[in-house]
Amino acid sequence: MFSLAERSLYVSDLDLWIDSMRPRARCYVSHGHSDHAREHDTIVTTPVNARICASRFERSIARAKQTSLLPERPRPECAFEEHEFNEPWSDGEHTLTLFPAGHVLGSAQLLIEGERGRFVYTGDFKLARSYTCEPAEVKKCDVLLMECTFGRPQYVFPSRDEVEDAIVSFATKALEDGCAPVFNAYSLGKAQEAMAILGKAGIPITVHGAVHAMARVYEAAGVQLPPYERYDAVTYDGTRALIWPPSGKTLPKALKGKPSRTAMLTGWAMDKNATFRYGVDACIPLSDHADYDALIRYIELAQPEKVLLNHGWKDFVWRLRRLGIDATYLEPYEQLALF
Ligand SMILES: [Zn+2]
Repeated sequence: MFSLAERSLYVSDLDLWIDSMRPRARCYVSHGHSDHAREHDTIVTTPVNARICASRFERSIARAKQTSLLPERPRPECAFEEHEFNEPWSDGEHTLTLFPAGHVLGSAQLLIEGERGRFVYTGDFKLARSYTCEPAEVKKCDVLLMECTFGRPQYVFPSRDEVEDAIVSFATKALEDGCAPVFNAYSLGKAQEAMAILGKAGIPITVHGAVHAMARVYEAAGVQLPPYERYDAVTYDGTRALIWPPSGKTLPKALKGKPSRTAMLTGWAMDKNATFRYGVDACIPLSDHADYDALIRYIELAQPEKVLLNHGWKDFVWRLRRLGIDATYLEPYEQLALF
């Protein structure tokens, strides 16, 4: 009933695709990051993620128009089939439930219950605390399909308090030295978390337009964010922390030659060469994924008979097998009946 087909996860009994990168008739979208969220005829998701996806799709169409990349016939607007967290619904012989993944606001895991047992797809998740998204839940299941982005032992993050202190210290020191502190953070999730951390410390915040658009969606969903300004080339004077997407080639122009220091906010900060690789002044391990210990803890809590892995280090399979866990890594090209 559950398979890998056309490089995507597919639940044949439900005619439901999962986080597919190709347009589908009906697809469950776990959260709004661009490596999971694409337009489909019908998107099955939480109400908050529906708002996030709609906002992102609108922005990408607007960007494409500006750069004349818009396809001649844009896809028709997608419909959203919305389900609140922990409100199960029936689909034929099965019961489906979305529950919080703790990755970004509105991010959901999917539980499918049927005759053959309980199956959970985590999507991207984290167990660590967050100021701006719902705390993750773990449900017991028979088969667990989980991401393992940080499935190597060197990726054990410092405590959240230490990470927050590092972010605040970086900003404070830069401002004391007359430099604009710049934080590279994904516009969805990481940026709002950085805003909350800086805001708690009383550091004034200016954000890129994409971050601003997402912050507005967060606020409309009831998330309290500190005061912030949208970047404006005329008024920005370098005395406020700047939150900018990592891919922002526009940053040098935005800084207008003002002295600055840049910190990348990423779990990959645990790599020794991360600062050099990203070409920044510092890397701080603020992550919206589970670290190595949290991946193991999740399995201990969910107690599955079988663990399937995707999105991460393949050798995590062997680490789990050494712990006596029945684990398999899913190759994207496999045709495989999973459940
Ligand atoms: Zn993600």
